[in-house]
Amino acid sequence: MKQIEQLIQWVKESDNIVFFGGAGVSTESGIPDFRSVDGLYNQEYDYPPETILSHSFYLNNKAEFYRFYRNKMLCLTARPNAAHKKLAELEEAGKLKAVITQNIDGLHQAAGSRNVLELHGSVHRNYCQKCGKFFDAEYILNSTDCPLCNHCGGTIKPDVVLYEEGLDDRTIRESIHSIAQADILIIGGTSLAVYPAAGLVDYYRGNKLVLINRATTPLDSRADLRIEGKIGEVLSQIDL
Ligand code: NAD
Repeated sequence: MKQIEQLIQWVKESDNIVFFGGAGVSTESGIPDFRSVDGLYNQEYDYPPETILSHSFYLNNKAEFYRFYRNKMLCLTARPNAAHKKLAELEEAGKLKAVITQNIDGLHQAAGSRNVLELHGSVHRNYCQKCGKFFDAEYILNSTDCPLCNHCGGTIKPDVVLYEEGLDDRTIRESIHSIAQADILIIGGTSLAVYPAAGLVDYYRGNKLVLINRATTPLDSRADLRIEGKIGEVLSQIDL
């Protein structure tokens, strides 16, 4: 396939690649995304996922929020797939400078990536809202209703950015810096529908914008190279 050869060529020539991805990066690990036909937005719940995963819903219906969150967002048995592994390899080889992800599953770190900018937080970090004590994801999974702190009894909140909440300033700044300096920006497995994350693409100044996705996105016309396919299958063809 001609496009993949072009991608391989560009990757060979660069030591300043940045990757920006979303839920589609983890579907090959068995974690459903939001907007694909088999994604969470096309499954039936009492409330739409955007509503359940919002700050106001969390405040008013913690038990219901956690029921959805435990069932659908905590996929603790999932393992990194070929995409996560190749990105970690590219970083190890000194070619990739940062992975910027909208995912909250921690699979990039599990694959060995070190510079991971988590725009929407992580299910692996959870804090008591009263005393600040840290809890891992297993603690949340093994609790019932709203998890409570075993130290002070306060409620525990995942360090995940809910709808209606702002993104962490430092993570945004570092993401902008990486993208603005990047020679190649590879975007993959994201519908580019969630803002402000999708707006980060505007900071790219180069001429090697690569878009790898199973479906079309609103930014397809801006790509210098567009590859339609599964991200794990595409990235695993890059031979270092
Ligand atoms: P999205 O569901 O809106 O879009 C996913 C995109 O990836 C779609 O365009 C789909 O066609 C594509 N895709 C799916 N599988 C693919 C594959 N194997 N290869 C290539 N493309 C593939 O996801 P989004 O853009 O990340 O935005 C939704 C929000 O969902 C994010 O804020 C994220 O926090 C959250 N989310 C995260 C996880 C996770 O952590 N794994 C899972 C679900 C949702």
